[in-house]
Amino acid sequence: MNNDELDKCSETVQNVLKEHERKEKEITELLIATKAILKSNDFRITARQVFDSCAKVIGAKSGYVALLSDDGQENELLFLEDGGMPCSVNPALPMPIRGLREEAYRSGKVVFDNNFMKSEWVKFMPKGHMSLRNVLFSPLNIDNKTVGIMGFACKDGDFTENDAKLAAAFGDYAAIALQNSKNLEELNASNITKDRFFSIVAHDLKSPFSSLLFLSEILEKESKKTKNEKIIEYSSLLYQTLTKTFDYLNNLLDWSRLQTNRIEYSPSWFKLSDLTKEITSVLLLQAQNKKISFRLNVPDKLEIFADKNMIKTVLINLVSNAIKYSYPKGEVCISSVQKTKGILVRVEDNGIGISSANIEKLFRIEQSFATPGTENESGTGLGLILCQEFIKKHNGQIGVESELKKGSTFWFNLPTIENN
Ligand code: ADP
Repeated sequence: MNNDELDKCSETVQNVLKEHERKEKEITELLIATKAILKSNDFRITARQVFDSCAKVIGAKSGYVALLSDDGQENELLFLEDGGMPCSVNPALPMPIRGLREEAYRSGKVVFDNNFMKSEWVKFMPKGHMSLRNVLFSPLNIDNKTVGIMGFACKDGDFTENDAKLAAAFGDYAAIALQNSKNLEELNASNITKDRFFSIVAHDLKSPFSSLLFLSEILEKESKKTKNEKIIEYSSLLYQTLTKTFDYLNNLLDWSRLQTNRIEYSPSWFKLSDLTKEITSVLLLQAQNKKISFRLNVPDKLEIFADKNMIKTVLINLVSNAIKYSYPKGEVCISSVQKTKGILVRVEDNGIGISSANIEKLFRIEQSFATPGTENESGTGLGLILCQEFIKKHNGQIGVESELKKGSTFWFNLPTIENN
């Protein structure tokens, strides 16, 4: 190989290496922009990253990102990068859609001009604007409509078709980011409305419901004096139905409060045995109706540090489930033991049990799994989910062991404060 041939060969190699380097830079910047889209739902942050990456690969020094105003008449500037060049135009001035930018909006495609100061568009440039050697506009298209634009300018050389292709890809990225942030905004707004509606309904139902419950309790007691079987039966039914519905309403209210972070975890020391006694007395009538007995095995001296209201809700749910899914004359046992790492509480029944396939469906909001009780009591599938949320607030765990037709043991543990 002579020297000329060697030079040519080395030149080709250099060109291939340069091309390789360029491609590598393009891929790196595309990846950086992709990450930005995945990481942030804030369009301002993502748009800046997408703009910077695009400017880097196409070699532009200045530019901006703007969105179309609601009336579709002008650009609303999101940010401007002057690339350190002097420009005395106030960025707050309106940016009507005209000139080369209008072309990009109309066609939905990238447009560029490498001799901008001599182009027909220059007449639209406001006074005091920095001189622009060249410009390139990349539209942000959502559902075939251009809703914003990325403008680039002042490349040292000329913008090329390859730059246009890349800018179109980055424009699509920015459009995806914009769509994502709009979707999220809508989702948040509808979520807030739903939460508000839900908590207002639950809250406003609670006080008339408490009065109804109170009255039905008096009625249930008084009815016994009448010795009228029908009145006694209906009053008892009314009282029980209202009690269950009230429990459900409380669960719903707690759930909505949890979702909107309106339930504060406020732990204190209390005796678990006192709480279990309180709960079994509240649920006594429910148990007596099915001739179910309670067995309590909670050491009197066992004190726990936990949020009493949350643990009360958990136990009410677990114990009333144990009654609901027990056969008549069954037994429900509540026990607890102190372990090295915390305490373990178990609510055990010898009722209908749960198949292993159905166990998989428990504690999952998306499954909404519920079956009727042994006396056809209705279920909502919300109780266990709520229990799980409350136990999680204590850094504890909740679970179940069960065998069909033999019974179930729901358990939860609460770590000692050192682990909390
Ligand atoms: P609900 O009891 O209102 O249906 P839960 O979330 O408390 O809602 O329970 C979900 C489902 O788990 C119940 O419908 C039932 O199928 C099952 N389950 C819960 N506790 C027991 C239990 N002790 N024995 C058998 N099945 C149970």
